[in-house]
Amino acid sequence: MLELRPSCEHCNTNLPSNSTEAMICTFECTYCKTCAIEVFENVCPNCTGNFVERPIRPSKYLEKYPSSTKKIFKPKDLEFTKKNTEKYKDIQPIKR
Ligand SMILES: [Zn+2]
Ligand SMILES: [Zn+2]
Repeated sequence: MLELRPSCEHCNTNLPSNSTEAMICTFECTYCKTCAIEVFENVCPNCTGNFVERPIRPSKYLEKYPSSTKKIFKPKDLEFTKKNTEKYKDIQPIKR
């Protein structure tokens, strides 16, 4: 089950469970769309994988399966992540 982390790791924007702005990688590193697509160009700065839109959990399940309340806020050193992005952004996710 996805944790549904409550915020963007890079800019700390709130990403509630029903947000359409939440993007996740295969390890569920969680970023807002602006960070995932515009800043990191679809290269996860932690694992180099791609991002997809986080699915929205229907509200009827949230009581039994609540979203995480544990914020992870680890802003990236953009000079370093830029190198990562440049190295991987033109490689299809399936070949990374
Ligand atoms: Zn963000
Ligand atoms: Zn990742």
